Amino acid sequence: MERTAIYPGTFDPITLGHRDIIERAVKIFDRVIVAAAKNAGKSPLFTIDERVEMIRESVRDIPRVEVDAFDSLIIDYCHKRKAIALIRGLRAISDFEYEFQMALINRKIGGDVESVFLMPKEEYTYLSSSMIKEIAAYGGDVSCFVPDPVKRELIGKNTETKETE
Ligand code: ADP
Repeated sequence: MERTAIYPGTFDPITLGHRDIIERAVKIFDRVIVAAAKNAGKSPLFTIDERVEMIRESVRDIPRVEVDAFDSLIIDYCHKRKAIALIRGLRAISDFEYEFQMALINRKIGGDVESVFLMPKEEYTYLSSSMIKEIAAYGGDVSCFVPDPVKRELIGKNTETKETE
């Protein structure tokens, strides 16, 4: 049977840290579904369609990766896609408490889906989507933090915001 894992997140936008985790996950699983959460609660900068498209363009060269959006309990989505594992990235101790809580809750409500934690390359451990948005908003260069398609979108988004101000 094909072993599928789901890598859920907001991906607002996808960074090289996320991409690093995806590259590691495909070494362990037959198929990895990167699932962007619609997450209206987090008021993302990019729409769900923009986020999905940026992920698609950024992982095009990695085999056995699928990109999708979801708007339900992640565990329900895992069951729907017949996934056996949930991938999460751990950057630092600061991620641990929240991730630990999520993993235990997910185990409680969807016992058969195992949470798997992967660590990115050291140079990506300090990267976060929110930091990147902040740097880009002030016109800083984010090229060493995000895949090229994201860089273009970020520049576009900032020009758009400036025009409407
Ligand atoms: P969420 O809203 O679910 O936290 P994110 O898109 O911020 O969504 O992150 C998705 C997952 O990727 C989380 O497990 C997060 O810890 C992990 N992650 C985020 N940034 C990095 C990074 N630079 N390196 C490794 N993992 C990361």
